[in-house]
Amino acid sequence: MAIVVQKYGGSSVADADKIRNVARRAAAARERGDHVVVVVSAMGETTDRLIELANQVSDHPDDRELDGLLSTGELVSSTLLAMALRSMGAEAISLSGAQAGIRTDAVYSHARILGVKPHRIKKELEQGMIVIVAGFQGITEEMDITTLGRGGSDTTAVALAVSLKAERCELYTDVDGVYTADPRIVPEARRLDEIGYDEMLELASYGAKVIHSRAVELGELHKMPIIVASSFSDKPGTVIHGGALMEVAKKVRGISQDVNVAKVTVVGVPDRTGVASAIFDALARANISIDTIVQNASINRITDLTFTVTKNDLTKAMKVIDPVVKSIGARECTSDSKLASVSIIGAGMQSVPGYAAKMFRALYEAGINIELITTSEIRITCIIDESKAGDAVRVLHRAFELEQGA
Ligand code: ASP
Ligand code: MG
Repeated sequence: MAIVVQKYGGSSVADADKIRNVARRAAAARERGDHVVVVVSAMGETTDRLIELANQVSDHPDDRELDGLLSTGELVSSTLLAMALRSMGAEAISLSGAQAGIRTDAVYSHARILGVKPHRIKKELEQGMIVIVAGFQGITEEMDITTLGRGGSDTTAVALAVSLKAERCELYTDVDGVYTADPRIVPEARRLDEIGYDEMLELASYGAKVIHSRAVELGELHKMPIIVASSFSDKPGTVIHGGALMEVAKKVRGISQDVNVAKVTVVGVPDRTGVASAIFDALARANISIDTIVQNASINRITDLTFTVTKNDLTKAMKVIDPVVKSIGARECTSDSKLASVSIIGAGMQSVPGYAAKMFRALYEAGINIELITTSEIRITCIIDESKAGDAVRVLHRAFELEQGA
């Protein structure tokens, strides 16, 4: 019997009716003859509400306690789903992340999965159970509860699929797949039947919310086919896999935007060795992740250095580098928190000239100023004013004719 891992996001388990809907879908998968493992997110906006509560009782909620608190959201949905399945006559058992054998490091709120010991899940599957696992959480060596970062249930699902050698990992959400752009911003956006891991990873890392980027990374590493589909329909969804038809596919596959971008510029940096290292060491020690980095060519041995962080990390980043700016003798440090990124992504862009020019022209014609530009082999990203993000995505979608099928 093949093992299938299904994951249902928060909107798919938002209330009792929706939980019963998920129970029917899981039971149907079991009846088709597969071993079924179901990973769930917390109901609806539960995680947000728990964070608000924590902030009401404390200005700085303790990291360890916060993870313990947030993990309860997924315990609620997983236990309810097991009850719903049992009341339908199906055999089901729920397991917390710890019971499911998900071991992580001790970086609270951003824990990484170190390994999975799936013997309990296997034992339950062998007895014919549908096994429901609380997503987004794991346990440290010291038996402390950790969480994997917002949206982390996708990563739980793919990690379980890999460790159980599942046939595939199905991620169910409230949209019916991966689109060429966010359909709420671009009404003519198209659902993709398939997309490569690398393309999906870039889309997810640059703002597409449909799947957690770490889940894609893990899927790619272990060649686990991932399907993104709706829990409210039987449409086939989008298959994320390694064998996308690169040469025949349209060159640009998708456009993503991220409004969670802030920029920091260190002005008047003396151009000598060790300066960049001092700045980025301090940021790394504070666990702040940096995206774009641009250093200007120096004039009279003085240069500027700009980098981007998420908006929530901006205050911390400014605080952390303030003493460094002074110690290296830079003039000052400025920031802008009202920025967004727009990215065009496609494996077919590799070594084909002209994409950047076309992107910049489309933005120019729409009167959108580009602040910073970064690229990978299969992505071009422009940092722009936050208020222009929607327009930018729409003009790029049109410029690259993404409304037309491949
Ligand atoms: N409940 C968590 C969150 O809202 C994890 C998840 O949904 O995957 O981020
Ligand atoms: Mg959620």
